[in-house]
Amino acid sequence: MEAQYYSVLEGGKVHCRLCPHSCKLGDGKAGICRIRRNIGGKLIAEGYETYSAISFDPIEKKPLYHFYPGTEILSVGGLGCNMRCKWCQNCEISQSGVETRVNKKQMTARQLLQLAGSRNKNIGIAYTYNEPTIAFESNIQVARLFRKEGYKNVLVSNGYLSEIPLNEYLKYIDAVNLDIKAFNPITHLQFTGARLEPVLKNAVKIFKAGIHLELTYLVVSSVNDDETEFRDFIKWMVKELGNETPLHISRYFPRHEFNVEATNPATLKSFVKIAQEYLDYIYLGNYISQEYEHTICAECKELIIEREGYHVRVSPLSGDGNCNNCGQKVFVAD
Ligand code: SF4
Ligand code: SF4
Repeated sequence: MEAQYYSVLEGGKVHCRLCPHSCKLGDGKAGICRIRRNIGGKLIAEGYETYSAISFDPIEKKPLYHFYPGTEILSVGGLGCNMRCKWCQNCEISQSGVETRVNKKQMTARQLLQLAGSRNKNIGIAYTYNEPTIAFESNIQVARLFRKEGYKNVLVSNGYLSEIPLNEYLKYIDAVNLDIKAFNPITHLQFTGARLEPVLKNAVKIFKAGIHLELTYLVVSSVNDDETEFRDFIKWMVKELGNETPLHISRYFPRHEFNVEATNPATLKSFVKIAQEYLDYIYLGNYISQEYEHTICAECKELIIEREGYHVRVSPLSGDGNCNNCGQKVFVAD
C-alpha cells in the first residue's frame, strides 16, 4: 500500500512527513518507525492491515478510567514505533518491522468490524500496544468504518505525530491516552529518541478538540523521577489541559535495554501527593493499591467507581457519568 504524507526528492529519495522525524529515505531504506519504506521511489506503508496482537481488553487496561468504565474494547497492535524507549514493555513488536516479525496477521477493516460485533460488552476498537499512529493508512480506514457503524475509536499513543495527520485522526477518534515519557526535553530525547515539544503540542490540540483525554506518566527510576520536574509537568497540565484531565502515574519495571530497579513505591506515592495538590483525578498503575484506583467525585467526594484490578463497579445512580449526589460530570457514557 502506498503511504500518505510523503514527497519524492531528487535521486529517488522520498521524504515522509507523517511524524516529526521527517525521514528522508534512499531506495530500500525504512524510516525510524521500521514500517514505512522507500521501494523504487515510492513510500510504502509496510504495516498496512498487519497486526501483531488482537484481543478484547477492559477499557481500564488502556488505561482509560473516565471513558465508558466497566466496558471492554477490541484492542489491536501493529508493528514498529517511532520512539526507542529503552524500557519498552512491548519491545518485541515495537522494535520489529514486518520482515523480522514472524507472528503477525492480516485483517481488513471489515474483518475487524465483524470481530468487534462478536462481544456485546465491546464499545469499539483501540489502536494500542506498539505506537499505532504510524500505521496511518489502515487505522484511518478502520476508524472511518467503526465510526460509521456507531463504535468508538480509541488511540493509545506516544503523541509523536505531525499536525496534518493528527487532524485527520481527530476526525474519528473519541478518546486518547497519551504517554508523557518525561517533562525534561533533554531526557525525553535521550531516552526515547524523539523530541518532547511536538508531544506536548499534540496533547493540547487533542484536548482543545474536545476529545476525551487521559495522560500516563511512567515513573522510571533515575530518569524522570525528579520531584521538581514532575511538579512542573503537573503545573503545565493544569494550565493547558485543566484540572479534570485524569492522570495515570505508572510504575516502571526493568525491561528491554534498561535494568535499573523498579520504581520505589514511596516515590510513586509522593508523586501522587504532588499531583493531588493540583489535579482532580489521579490513579496509580502497575501497582496494587486500593487507595488510588477508585474514582471519587471531585466536587462532593462521593464514590462513583469502585475498582479492584479490572473488576469495576460503577455506582448505578451515576451510570450516565454524572455524580448522583451533586450532578458533577465525572466520566463519559451514553
Ligand atoms: S512515520 Fe516513520 S518514516 Fe515517517 S517520518 Fe516518522 S519515523 Fe520516519
Ligand atoms: S513509545 Fe511505547 S511502544 Fe514505542 S518504544 Fe516507547 S514504550 Fe515502546
